[in-house]
Amino acid sequence: MMQAREVDILTSLDAHAAINPHGLAHTWREHDLTWGEFAARSLRLAGWLDAHVEPGAPVVVFGHKHPDLLVCFVAAMRSGRAYIPLDSSLPAQRVTSILEAAAATHILAPEDASLLPHTGAVVLAGDDLRVLMDQDSTAPRALTPVEPSAAQYTICTSGSTGTPKGVQISRDSVNRFASWITSVAARYVEPDAGITVINQAPFSFDLSVMDVMYSWATGARLFSVDRDHIVRLRDLFEALRSSQATVWVSTPSFADLCLADPDFSSSLMPDVRLFLFCGETLQRATAVALRERFPLASVINTYGPTESTVAVTEVDVDDAVLAAFPVLPVGAPKPGTTLLILDPDGSPVPDGDKGEIVIAGDTVSLGYYRRPDLTDKAFGQVDVAGVPTWAYWTGDAGVLSEGQLHFHGRLDFQVKLHGYRIEIEDIEAQLRALPAVQQAVVVPRYDPTTPTTVTSLHAVVHLSEPPTGSTLATTVQLKRELRALIPDYMVPKTMSFVSEIPMTANGKADRAAVAATLA
Ligand code: AMP
Repeated sequence: MMQAREVDILTSLDAHAAINPHGLAHTWREHDLTWGEFAARSLRLAGWLDAHVEPGAPVVVFGHKHPDLLVCFVAAMRSGRAYIPLDSSLPAQRVTSILEAAAATHILAPEDASLLPHTGAVVLAGDDLRVLMDQDSTAPRALTPVEPSAAQYTICTSGSTGTPKGVQISRDSVNRFASWITSVAARYVEPDAGITVINQAPFSFDLSVMDVMYSWATGARLFSVDRDHIVRLRDLFEALRSSQATVWVSTPSFADLCLADPDFSSSLMPDVRLFLFCGETLQRATAVALRERFPLASVINTYGPTESTVAVTEVDVDDAVLAAFPVLPVGAPKPGTTLLILDPDGSPVPDGDKGEIVIAGDTVSLGYYRRPDLTDKAFGQVDVAGVPTWAYWTGDAGVLSEGQLHFHGRLDFQVKLHGYRIEIEDIEAQLRALPAVQQAVVVPRYDPTTPTTVTSLHAVVHLSEPPTGSTLATTVQLKRELRALIPDYMVPKTMSFVSEIPMTANGKADRAAVAATLA
């Protein structure tokens, strides 16, 4: 396999600023950022961070899609500090628990800081922040950027105990991932400054690292759509039409949402040549529809968890793949990654047999931020051709057959719903914390045609007191209370109420028995 050209993201950014200072680096609604502004503003803010934030301490960046969020990320990197993206659409309780887990002393909030819960951290927002980016208020300093082996960013994911966990990704890993994804895309699209790449995922989800790093590595313009676009399809399509996008990065669910409208076709986006997917099962029907509606575009499926820097496998879903596989594979590993399929005893299974997917290689996370206990459980060294190699136990079931990885669902209680990663136990912990709830079990509902695709979540609840209102009224009330604690996408769609939750012999809620009552 061809070795990717090694990219260094910071060097690339500075090169775009030098060569194409007036070219656009990012567009979000009416906000544009040029490469020249990007470099200059991030340098000034980096000088301030260097002078005011403890060396090595991470910086939280709070907001949704404003270009200044990107300026903050790069400022942190330039000053030798990791950034922790935190999406402003999360409920206050969730934001608080992420801020607690991050223990950050400084929060940069280029958008609406009023949504931030009060913590002891210093919040730099609005005009105060813009002054630091725009004016040479700090004496120029010799900056030492993030070390190659240190964390460039930490992304927080749902944790099974109800507390989010921070996945730390090193600068080296980001550079290797960027080199690889750029080389994959170059098979279809000549990288140059005329290219636009669509950004759908919030910056706090690792899927966004695919489009952001593609942009930063190649000089393509990043074009963001936001959560309001997604609820108003007409606005979304207007934005997409104006984007002149060449490369598309999203979850398959987002493409399905767009495909539901017949206008989503090459007439809307004539320049698209490449769809890149990751994060959940890419259904065959989605790939087929995209190839019909965008005859000039290729569809690439990629696979990987946040813990291995976005994605580590890829496959072009072309005619040959569609003919060979009724259920789409997730592809072959990138250079620098070795996939192991292990049985419950930790021994490799024969080719074609099912086991746990373990990812070893050069883009595996440093571990969970300040959680050595969780890191020890999921990470460790494995032997790859006689070399001890850092690896992540994914909890995904998979089959490796003739070089292609096939995803077979989860071995634990983590699910993907509409592209969002959710720990079922996280929702249960929040439900049980409600005064009205004695015990609760959350059961995923699956698509009958694609059994790895979750379509909704159902909660089976044992109330502390017999309900006073109807089932509907109780459901509405519990969902309202949950929405204050966890993101909307985690709130179960339906609920049923029982007088007792069956228990296993060792005293745990018996999920299998609960699920059987719903079948
Ligand atoms: P996240 O950390 O949010 O990227 O979620 C990672 C998980 O999403 C993986 O461990 C898989 O369970 C699932 N996943 C990622 N990519 C794919 C894919 N192409 N097909 C099916 N599931 C996927």
